[in-house]
Amino acid sequence: MRRCIGARIGALLALVALSTAFVLLAPQQTAQAQPTQTRAVNYPRYGQRSAAVLSLQRKLVKARFLAARYRTGYYGTLTRAAVRRLQDRNRLKVTGRVDARTMVALDRAVAAQAPARTWYHRETIGYSAEGRKIVAYRAGQRGKPVVVVVATMHGEENLGHYVAQGLLRGRRIADVDLWVVPVINPDGYIRSRRWLAGGVDANRNYHDRFIVRAHSGPFAASAKETRVMMKFLDRVNPRYLVSWHQPLYGVDSYRVKDKALMRRLSNGLRLPIRRLDCHGSCHGTMTGWFNANHAGAAITVEYGYTARSVATMRGRDADALLKALGGRRV
Ligand SMILES: [Zn+2]
Repeated sequence: MRRCIGARIGALLALVALSTAFVLLAPQQTAQAQPTQTRAVNYPRYGQRSAAVLSLQRKLVKARFLAARYRTGYYGTLTRAAVRRLQDRNRLKVTGRVDARTMVALDRAVAAQAPARTWYHRETIGYSAEGRKIVAYRAGQRGKPVVVVVATMHGEENLGHYVAQGLLRGRRIADVDLWVVPVINPDGYIRSRRWLAGGVDANRNYHDRFIVRAHSGPFAASAKETRVMMKFLDRVNPRYLVSWHQPLYGVDSYRVKDKALMRRLSNGLRLPIRRLDCHGSCHGTMTGWFNANHAGAAITVEYGYTARSVATMRGRDADALLKALGGRRV
């Protein structure tokens, strides 16, 4: 406020100076003072209550300079302090007043907070037994080879979810038409429980060498989630399907269909190649069903008992997976 009055006094003095033709510098002072005042009028100011203040506060909240509970529509001391923090962080003049440069810095700060997303399409491909959505995301380029990554088939094996998140964030994806289903078993995921409803193992319920035994379900594709995934995979018909599990720590070589893919995954993800044969032979698995019924190759990847850091799973591992599938970031 003080500066504002100062500027007005400056302008007034300049006018006086002009009218008396006393000082030659006076017109220059006027020219400096007036645009500052004109610009300030367009931005919310301290002491105001308005929709423009609310809009400013929303951005300050998004950029984490203001706590959400102070989004009141009133430009008080807290909003001023938030603007000052923003200005300080951006090496602007710390005034607590909004101007064009402050708004540019704020818009940049908001953009930086929202992680860029890779996906452009989100779709509910079906519902769980308890009515939760099973959601698929699509990223990458249409017309390129279709690849699918699925995770959290067993509800307590939730680390693959971070890899899925990594694929859905960050720089855009090219060279593959990527679909990601981060959570196949939302009912199990929410309880950190392995099974689908009724104690059915989602990876023993498919039409491939199905046998009735503990947790297989009464018949093949008895579970809603199994039918949702079969329908989805039949529709998008991927070249590669990667199913993420834990804790057996390896890339599966059991009845593997595409050895080159297996090796790329093993190298990129720094996981050993292992024969994950379900203690002898696998029955009713999703990858077994897919490999038997589609031209493409399905494979299981398992993290270990010990979690890698979230940053590694979302970052390095998601990128390694993408590369193994033939994709890249652009
Ligand atoms: Zn599993």
